[in-house]
Amino acid sequence: MAVADNLAVAPFLRSSPKKLFIGGRWFEAASGKTFPTFDPSNGEVLAEVAEGDREDIDRAVKAARASFESGSWRELPPAERARILWKVGDLIEERAAEFAELDSLDNGKPINEMMLADVPLSAATFRYYAGWVTKLGGQTGSISFPGQWLNYTLREPVGVVGQIIPWNFPLMMAAWKVAPALACSNSVVLKPAEQTPLSALLLAEVIQQAEVPPGVFNVVTGFGETAGAALAEHQGVDKIAFTGSTEVGKLIVKASVGNLKRVSLELGGKSPNIVFSDADLSRAASGAYLGIFFNQGEVCSAGSRLFVQEKVYDDMIDRVSNIANELVLGPGIDPMTQMGPLVSEEQLKRVLGYIDAGKKEGATVAAGGERAGGELSHGYFVKPTVFAQVNGKMQIAREEIFGPVLAAIPFDDEDDLIAKANDSVYGLAAGVWTSDVKRAHRVARALKAGTVWVNCYNVLDPAMAWGGYKQSGWARELGPYALDLYTEVKSVLMDLS
Ligand code: NAP
Ligand code: MG
Repeated sequence: MAVADNLAVAPFLRSSPKKLFIGGRWFEAASGKTFPTFDPSNGEVLAEVAEGDREDIDRAVKAARASFESGSWRELPPAERARILWKVGDLIEERAAEFAELDSLDNGKPINEMMLADVPLSAATFRYYAGWVTKLGGQTGSISFPGQWLNYTLREPVGVVGQIIPWNFPLMMAAWKVAPALACSNSVVLKPAEQTPLSALLLAEVIQQAEVPPGVFNVVTGFGETAGAALAEHQGVDKIAFTGSTEVGKLIVKASVGNLKRVSLELGGKSPNIVFSDADLSRAASGAYLGIFFNQGEVCSAGSRLFVQEKVYDDMIDRVSNIANELVLGPGIDPMTQMGPLVSEEQLKRVLGYIDAGKKEGATVAAGGERAGGELSHGYFVKPTVFAQVNGKMQIAREEIFGPVLAAIPFDDEDDLIAKANDSVYGLAAGVWTSDVKRAHRVARALKAGTVWVNCYNVLDPAMAWGGYKQSGWARELGPYALDLYTEVKSVLMDLS
C-alpha cells in the first residue's frame, strides 16, 4: 500500500481498513471481513475495505428508516435543507484534489478528467438539486364533479432509498443518485462498486461535515451478489435506483418484486455517433475521440459505433486513428496521462476478448488492437483501438465492450443510417455531426435514444435529462425528472359544499 506522501488524499488512504458508514458512525462489517481495492495502473492494493453483507445492509436500512421516521431531515425547513446540500457541493469543491486523486487511483482514470469533469459536475449536481428543495410543490386540479371541491397534490418523499452504482464514474454516479434523493427528503443507503468503493466513503465524510443528520445517508461497501442483492431485496427499502449493466439491471427488477419497491435503472449502451459528409470533419473527429476514448471508453454513453457517410469514411478513419495513435497512456494520477488503464484485470480480459473477436470476424485494425506493453505491462492498459470495415452483424458492433474500442461502420444515406443506428437492443445516447440544421433535427427525432448530442458528444449537465430507451433503462435521472423518481404524489380532495 505505497501511497505517495505528497498526495492530498494520503491521510485518507492511510487510515485503512475503511469502514462502513451507518447511522452517522463508522463500523467494521458484522463478519469482520475486508476486501482489497486495487490501483489498476500497477495491480497493487490501494486500501482494504469493510466487506458489508446482508446483516450490514439490514442495519443500514434500519438506520435510514429511523432517520426518516424521526423527521430529522424531511422536517427541516426547505431553505435549511437547501443550504446543507449546497454546502455538500462547496465541500466537494474544497476537497477536489482528494476526490480527484482518489477516483484516479482507484479507477485508473486521468486526474485531469477528474478535475475538469467528475469533480465539478458532482459539486454542480448537489447545487442544482439544492436549488430544487425550495421549489418542490404540487398542483391544483380542476374538478368537474358537481359541487365545490378543492383538489391539490403534495409531493412527498418515497422513504428509504437503496442506491447501487458502478465503477466508471464513482463520485459522479454517487452524486447523481444521492443529491436528488436527499433533495426530496428521502433517507439513503448507497452501495458503491467493489472495484471503486473509496470516494463514496469520502463523500460520507463530506455529507457528515455538511451536517446532514445521522442515518439520512449511509454507505455499505461490499459485493454485488451479497450486499447489493440484499439491498435490492430488502422489504424495508421503498425504492431502488440502480446504475450498471443491463444484465444486473434485470436481476434488480426480479429482486424488487417482494415488496414491489419502485425501481429506476440506468443501464448499458452501444451508442451511435454519426458523421454526415457535410460535417466539420475535424470537430467530428475530436467528437469521435471524446465519444470512445474519454474515460478509457468505460462510459455508458460511449459512442462505440461510429457511423460515417461513405464519401468521407476513409478520411474519418485516418483522422480518428491518428488521434488514437498519439494518445498518451499512463497511470491516471500522472497529469500528463490522456488515457489510463482499464479498471481491473477482468475488464482487461473482456476488452481484449472483444478485440480478438473483431479480428476474427474480419474487421480491419486501423489503430491499436492490443494490450499496451513496456512499462505499462504491469497495469491493465489497452491501446486505443479503431476497427474499420465493420458491419452491423459483428459482435463488436452489437455488444457493449465498455473499453476504448471503436467500431466504424459506413452508411449510404439518411434512411440507411436511421435503420442501422436504431438496430440495437440499447438506446442510451447518440451523436449527430452535420452542418445541415434540418437534417440534425430530423435525425434527432428518428433516433431511439434518451440523449442526442448534435455537433458535440458526452457533454453532461445536471439540468439535462438522462436515461435510456429500450434495454438501456427505465425512467430518467437528472434535471427535474429525477424529482419524480424520489417522490410520491399524494392527491387531496376536499368537499367544500
Ligand atoms: P455491474 O456489474 O452491473 O455492477 C453495477 C453495480 O451493481 C455494482 O455496485 C455491483 O456490485 C452491483 N451488483 C452486481 N451484481 C448485483 C446483484 N446481483 N444485485 C445487486 N447489485 C449487484 O456494472 P459495472 O460493471 O459496475 O458497470 C458497468 C455497466 O454500467 C455498463 O454496462 C455501463 O453501461 C453501465 N452504466 C450505465 C450508466 C447509465 O447512466 N446508463 C452509467 C454508468 C455505467 P459489484 O461491484 O460488487 O459487482
Ligand atoms: Mg480500484
